[in-house]
Amino acid sequence: MQDISDYYRCTGKKTALVPTMGFLHKGHVSLIKKAKENNDITVVSIFVNPMQFGVNEDFDKYPRDFKKDYDICKEAGVDYIFNPEIYEMYNKSLTEVTVKEITGRLEGKFRPGHFTGVATVVLKLINAVKPHNIYLGQKDAQQNAVLKKMVSDLNADVIINICETVREENGLAMSSRNSYLTPEQKSNASILYFLLNEGRKRVLENNFEDTEAIKVEISVLLKQKHPDIELQYYEITDNDRLDNISDLKNYKGEVLISLAAKVGSTRLIDNIVFIKQ
Ligand code: AMP
Repeated sequence: MQDISDYYRCTGKKTALVPTMGFLHKGHVSLIKKAKENNDITVVSIFVNPMQFGVNEDFDKYPRDFKKDYDICKEAGVDYIFNPEIYEMYNKSLTEVTVKEITGRLEGKFRPGHFTGVATVVLKLINAVKPHNIYLGQKDAQQNAVLKKMVSDLNADVIINICETVREENGLAMSSRNSYLTPEQKSNASILYFLLNEGRKRVLENNFEDTEAIKVEISVLLKQKHPDIELQYYEITDNDRLDNISDLKNYKGEVLISLAAKVGSTRLIDNIVFIKQ
């Protein structure tokens, strides 16, 4: 891969990287489209990264279908698929990339070590592919904050581009993990986007001093409609360091509302970001 990227760098062509774990869907395709619009060469990496899965997580059963991914990439006009083996990525490696503070919040509380796995693999992918641009989805807001900080702290020579979350008609954010859900669970899971929008409404009404009262109302709404869905967290933060917004009334700037919930045994994450004037 490095010979190819060196060649394109030398010829002055703009190269894009879309890092994925495969089992591609319309969300991934939207990133590929953006990459193709703004670059000469588009590389999609497909690598289910063991380092970002905890011991009791779904690494073994994570959905994989390389043939289908290949067809989707071909149809979308991808120039190269980078699909390394685990031993090629982690050959007796002793090095990890850890971004501090931001990684301890939200997902970090439930998935210790996850973002070290993400930051390490993405830096390795950046070094292998040497892209000018990298395309990430808003769907993984905390991952984006972590990777932005890593790129800036370590002077990585790449520009991060964030693309909107693509949703099902009922509002459920597209995700490879949605394949674990039954049709009924998929329908019920639309409540998550509803809860994010209810939170946004309350933030923008500006009648709440702090985020706690909003969070209580959101839990009540969920209990009324789908008591079987377990909300692991629902946080209202800034979109940079992901700090809880304590003085909500006087806060101005980007607001990130993010959540994780268990629908049956499937853990889903989602978020929205908007400006509070
Ligand atoms: P994954 O394969 O789940 O690791 O995701 C690879 C990239 O696709 C990440 O940057 C995700 O944020 C992005 N992505 C996943 N789902 C969506 C979606 N529904 N809309 C837009 N981007 C997405």
